[in-house]
Amino acid sequence: MNSKTYKIAVLAGDGIGPEVMTEAKKVLDVISQKFSLNFTLTEKLVGGAAIDSVGEPLPADTLSCCEDSDAILFGSVGGEQWNQLPPEKRPEVGALLPLRKHFDLFANIRPAGVIDLLASSSPLKSEIIGKGFSFTVVRELTGDVYFGEKKLESEFGSDEMIYRREEVERIARVAFGLAQKSSRKKVTNVDKSNVLATSQFWRKIVEEVHAKEFPEIELEHLYIDNATMQILVRPQNFDIFLTGNLFGDILSDEAAQISGSIGMQASASINSEKFGLYEPMGGSAPDIAGKGIANPIAQIGSVAMMLEITFAELEAASAIKKAILKTLEDGLRTSDIFTNPEGEKKVSTSEMGDAVVKNILT
Ligand code: NAD
Repeated sequence: MNSKTYKIAVLAGDGIGPEVMTEAKKVLDVISQKFSLNFTLTEKLVGGAAIDSVGEPLPADTLSCCEDSDAILFGSVGGEQWNQLPPEKRPEVGALLPLRKHFDLFANIRPAGVIDLLASSSPLKSEIIGKGFSFTVVRELTGDVYFGEKKLESEFGSDEMIYRREEVERIARVAFGLAQKSSRKKVTNVDKSNVLATSQFWRKIVEEVHAKEFPEIELEHLYIDNATMQILVRPQNFDIFLTGNLFGDILSDEAAQISGSIGMQASASINSEKFGLYEPMGGSAPDIAGKGIANPIAQIGSVAMMLEITFAELEAASAIKKAILKTLEDGLRTSDIFTNPEGEKKVSTSEMGDAVVKNILT
């Protein structure tokens, strides 16, 4: 009998974070029963909740708990009430960026897509979506213009855009590795190599890694401006996108938007040991926080990604994905994905979580 124990740092954060995290914990509980896995969950403060309690967004105690864990399950952070603080003291910049840097979480993996039965919740026209689409954005997360030297003077501002060989090589390997496991075996590299030297270097290294290590994978290149248009007109043509931090920030949000609701989209940020931070793509959604209507699927999907990538518990991860699909097939919808009163039932955050739990157990 499998009796592995996994230590998980649970950082629910702000806004809807604690609400959707409650549902993710229910799911971990039933997965533990069904697959005889032990999860030790340690809950810690992060973001605005931590600022209010101990005066900083990423307390040392939270960081050391993450260091002592096998993975981090993250909710979301931020809110209007902390926006007057200097950027580095705010929940988002003061908690998420240091966590990414501290654990060298260089690879951000964001699956995007629409299944047939949710096609009407995407803003794309049905003739474009067809029977749905599915691709993954692999975004480099610890380099680029976000981490280069910054200058803010009275007459100018500048941010250094820089990528080093090993940074490009390792993220390229993540993208090509995912393509090897997919049926389409295709990587679309996105850069701006017609203008930027950083992108010319990036593309050269991507091509080298491709030729030496993954020649069986199809590789195509798109400029970022074209890529943002192409995913709106032919989303089903893509499999794995590979891109840098800045372009990936934009492309992955666009991908989340055309996927219907951001409340459905999970993401992983991993390092070379496959230690990861798993979180919904969306934020703390202050407009709906406390109302019990947030969609918990992104948070539950983050649990599935954690089981798959960091813990390699593929059967358990697959059980969650199937249960989510079954719940949607049964017509259950939180308000963000509710489009048709006939055949759909509007449910609360906890009703959606309970239905996924039930479908895991049956
Ligand atoms: P947001 O993602 O919180 O909300 C955008 C829209 O999506 C809102 O209408 C919201 O109600 C909806 N939404 C988001 N998640 C949902 C869910 N699970 N179910 C149903 N609807 C959902 O983005 P925002 O409003 O720009 O940001 C709010 C706060 O969150 C800000 O402080 C921002 O900085 C922060 N933020 C945090 C993270 C993070 O923690 N990783 C990411 C993005 C934004």
